[in-house]
This record gives sequence, C-alpha cells and structure tokens, in this order.
Amino acid sequence: MKNIVILGSNFAGYTAAMQIQKGLGKHNAEYNVIVVSPSHDFLYVPSLIWVPFGRRKVEDIRFDLRPIFRKKHIDFVQQAAKSVDPDSNEVLLENGDSIAYEYLVVATGVKMNFDILDGLKPEDNKISNIVIPKLALKTYDAFEKLVKDPGPVVVGATQGASCMGAAYEYLFNMDKELRRRKVRDKVKLYWITPEPYLGNFGIDGMPGGESMLKAFMKMYNIEWITDASIDKIEDHKIILKTGEELPYKMAMLMPPFEGADVMKASPKLVDQKGFVETTAAYQHLTYKNVFAAGLAVKVAVPFEIKNTPFGVPKTGYPSDVTGKIVAKNILRLINGKKKLIEKEWGKIPAVCVMDAGHKEVYLLANHLFKPRQFAIMIPNIFNDLGKVALEKYFIWKNKHGYAHLP
Ligand SMILES: Cc1cc2nc3c(=O)[nH]c(=O)nc-3n(C[C@H](O)[C@H](O)[C@H](O)COP(=O)(O)OP(=O)(O)OC[C@H]3O[C@@H](n4cnc5c(N)ncnc54)[C@H](O)[C@@H]3O)c2cc1C
Repeated sequence: MKNIVILGSNFAGYTAAMQIQKGLGKHNAEYNVIVVSPSHDFLYVPSLIWVPFGRRKVEDIRFDLRPIFRKKHIDFVQQAAKSVDPDSNEVLLENGDSIAYEYLVVATGVKMNFDILDGLKPEDNKISNIVIPKLALKTYDAFEKLVKDPGPVVVGATQGASCMGAAYEYLFNMDKELRRRKVRDKVKLYWITPEPYLGNFGIDGMPGGESMLKAFMKMYNIEWITDASIDKIEDHKIILKTGEELPYKMAMLMPPFEGADVMKASPKLVDQKGFVETTAAYQHLTYKNVFAAGLAVKVAVPFEIKNTPFGVPKTGYPSDVTGKIVAKNILRLINGKKKLIEKEWGKIPAVCVMDAGHKEVYLLANHLFKPRQFAIMIPNIFNDLGKVALEKYFIWKNKHGYAHLP
C-alpha cells in the first residue's frame, strides 16, 4: 500500500483527507489515507471569539473526528509531526516514529509569533489572546476580572498581523458584553490596527467597508488608531512608535502568524516564515508530490504597504476550497492526468460573516483580492444569526462527514 499522508485535521486537512478518500475509487486498495494530527478534535475556530464572553464553551465548538475517520477507513495517527524530509518522502513524528508517503498534504495551520514584542507572550500575563482554546479560556478569566474592576481596554492587532477580522469581532463583542454587564461607561475602549484604514482587512478593503466600520466605532464609542505600530508593552500601558501611550487594564492583541514548527523544521518546503511555497495548484514548487492547503500556504500581500506591515487573512472558506483543490489534484495525478486544477488564492471568492456584537456584516466578493467584478458588504443590524447559522452548518456538515459540501 502507498500512503497519502495529511498533516493537520482541521478546515483544510480534514476536507482534503475526506475528499481524497471519497475520490480514490478503483485505487482504494492501492492507497492508504493517513491523517496525522496532535488533536483528535475538529475545532470551529471562528467561534473562539465568543469563548471569553461565555457565549460559547470550547466543548460547544469541537467534536471528535475519530469515529468519522474510522467509518471512512481513514487512518488517524494522534501525533504531532516533527519534520518532513521531502527527499526521502518521509514524515518524522514527535514520538520518533516515521511515516513514508507517496503524496503529502501539509495543512498544519499556523503558529503565533509572540517574539516580535516583549510582553506579548501569554506567560508574561499582560496581553490576552483568543487564537487557541487554552488562551481564549484565559481571556475569559481576564474579562471576568475586568467586569469586577473595570478600566481601560486595548484591543487590536500588532504590526505584521494578518487576522484583523477576528480581532474586530472580539472588539465589538467586548463592547456588547460590557454594556450587558452594565460597566461599559467605566471602560475606555481603544482599537489599534496596523491597517492603513479601518476595514482594510489585509485585502485592500471592500466597498463601503471603511465608512461602515467608522460608523460602528462612533456608535459604540470606541477610539481607533490605524497604521499603529507598537513600540513597547508595559504593565499598564502600550506605547506606540509615535510615542502615544494607551493605558490598559485588559488588552487583547492579535500577533503575527508563522508556519507551524513542523514546517519551520522542514526548510526545503517553506519560506523564511515557515509557509509552504506552492503553485496555484497548491503543489509545492519543487517537490511535486507535496501539496499544501489552508493557513499553511504562502500567500503574498498583493498590494503595496507603505507604512506599518500587515499580512493577508487566510480565512475558513479558502482553507476549505484549497483542501478540495489539493484533493482533486492528488486524485488527478493518481489517475494519470497531467493537468492540475489551478485557482490562485486571491481569485477564490470572499465569503465571510463578521460579527459586530449582536449585529453582523456579510462580506461577499467574486475574488478575495482586487481586481474584483463584484464586492459587497451587507450589514444586518438586527442580530447575528448569520454567523450562528454558519457555525451550526459548518459543524453539522463536518460532524456528519459531508466535507464535499460548500
Ligand atoms: C479567533 C479566530 C477567528 C476566526 N474567525 C474566522 C471567521 O469568522 N471566518 C473565517 O472564515 N475564518 C476565520 N478564522 C480563520 C480560520 O479559523 C482559518 O482559516 C482556519 O482555521 C484555517 O484552517 P487550517 O486547517 O488551515 O488551519 P487550522 O484550523 O489552524 O488547523 C491546523 C491543523 O493542524 C494541526 N497541526 C498543528 N501542528 C501539527 C503538527 N506538528 N503535525 C500535524 N498536525 C498539526 C492542528 O492540530 C490542526 O488540526 C478565524 C481564526 C481565528 C484564530
């Protein structure tokens, strides 16, 4: 049997594994699909923004993947991969074992880079974070403390960050929850972002986005600073490179992302930051049996950044789409086809819902990056049911093994 190894089991890895297994057909007896991941849970990451406010518990947004993998005859190895040797086609695991592969899919997501600023690390106990469950739970405790003893709050993203959308959502939910807990008048709320204007989102904005976000900021009484670059994080104040000082009792900052450790330990496959360098078919530039999907893929910023650096957001929809493209392309190669499906990251449609604290905004465009022929932001000022429906749908579809659905 030849192995098709998938590293990672969330949006991109899970989708790729399920689609490859589904499409193997007459080659089923020849190939073994093996998923390697340190966690046996699927985690619906976008709902982590609600964990600090008690609206979701981590158990509500994750489920065990093992029964699905068993049912679909996909082997699951619960281990972190340590490195990949693309010359010998081998993955080395943390426990010392190794797995040989015929085809490899890298879908290992990202690692947060806390090293860019002193004081940013979770263990420094200054700045909160919501990117992984453990830290979102710690943020829950910090928020409860804030409610008991209110004071200024800074929310935002550091220079070099790329996931500003989630930080905006957290900001608006923070405002909403502080109001519900009747302490909003005791909290001065600041938003700081490396974006040159509100609503750039790392995709050079959407029509009407800047004015919509400005309107939200004014309506919610939030002070904002764009093009913000942090110089220092002190115990109770954040100092910007402009010299401006922002006091805080609580702060949440989205750090920059880098490739996962396993990929940084596999330098033949990645750039300096640990992202896999691929063609538009998500096939590695040199090693043609290696593919990547989701956050693990290198995506360059497609426009000029004049001042504070920031990156491109890699959201759930393109992660799912690239997982499907990779699956199709591996199946093509197995079936002896030479031509692969290509879709540049920036040409994948934008399909996103941004929670704005009991309100929401739909972001829809035919391409993530400009030029676009169609792009629209539609606010829903009455509720955030779209965001909730998307969460329910996504968890339902993956829990039932319907990874082929959009
Ligand atoms: C707080 C937050 C809110 C977000 N909100 C939204 C949103 O509203 N809408 C949206 O579209 N996107 C949102 N995103 C982005 C979305 O979550 C990502 O696009 C998506 O999770 C990417 O999927 P992925 O499979 O590439 O990576 P991940 O979901 O990060 O999965 C990585 C996988 O790799 C595994 N792994 C890690 N290390 C190893 C290793 N060494 N060996 C093997 N496996 C490994 C992990 O266990 C995991 O299974 C948000 C992100 C965050 C952080």
